[in-house]
Amino acid sequence: MPARPRPSVAATLLNTDQIELWPAALLRARSNGDARVIARASRILRRKSDGRYLAAVVPEGLVGLLPGWSRSEGLEQALDRLEAVEQTRRAPAPDTEGTLPLYGLRQRLETLELDADDYARRTGLALVGEPATLALAGFDRYRRPLWMTAAAGQAWRALQAAAATEGVRLEAISGYRSHAYQLGIFERKRARGQRVAQILTVNAAPGYSEHHGGDALDIGTPGQPPAEESFEHTEAFAWLTAHAGRFGFHMSYPRDNPHGIVYEPWHWRHQR
Ligand SMILES: [Zn+2]
Repeated sequence: MPARPRPSVAATLLNTDQIELWPAALLRARSNGDARVIARASRILRRKSDGRYLAAVVPEGLVGLLPGWSRSEGLEQALDRLEAVEQTRRAPAPDTEGTLPLYGLRQRLETLELDADDYARRTGLALVGEPATLALAGFDRYRRPLWMTAAAGQAWRALQAAAATEGVRLEAISGYRSHAYQLGIFERKRARGQRVAQILTVNAAPGYSEHHGGDALDIGTPGQPPAEESFEHTEAFAWLTAHAGRFGFHMSYPRDNPHGIVYEPWHWRHQR
């Protein structure tokens, strides 16, 4: 039997500019052929722009999961990262590896015809780098792995547990999201005919969302729709308002915030 990844390794997401290295145990196969490979794999190389699985790391090497995978953009970086981790035979210590460089993002913002400097000036928002390593902080409402920095993830679990002891159920809706994911939202909306200025009224520009940093999350409670202003009338929100600060969490976008972002009672950020 091939060795399964040790828990400490399995609970980390290794991030590179274009490709994420996922613990295989957390991904569901999309075909029977993939299922056989993934069952034997320690990690899966996953393309950030569209979530496709590129290749699996199995005991004897790499097995492609997508035609043409070996010509993928950013593959070399991803393989370097994999090699570095395999050499040390353990997962990197959480939150010690900093963030990824931003040069790729700047190029991609140009393709959107988005003037990054002008946007930053207008909103007062800063570019947010992606952590090089993320830790599993549990699962969200939709049973998807919830990735955050290790510090924010621990604080979130403590917050959630404390609420539960008082009968308040808090659910994660969404934690870490990559630049590529946010770019994908823009590309899809533009393909449907929306202008960038229009999209910016609802979505932060790629690179400027606090979700990129792995220390922010959207919080919900069972029976309530996600990311709706009505969340402010829930018991969950009242509890957060009273207690989240004790765990290092603060609401980023209160009413009339200086960034011109709509009121988001569901969006909370951890600061150490
Ligand atoms: Zn949010």
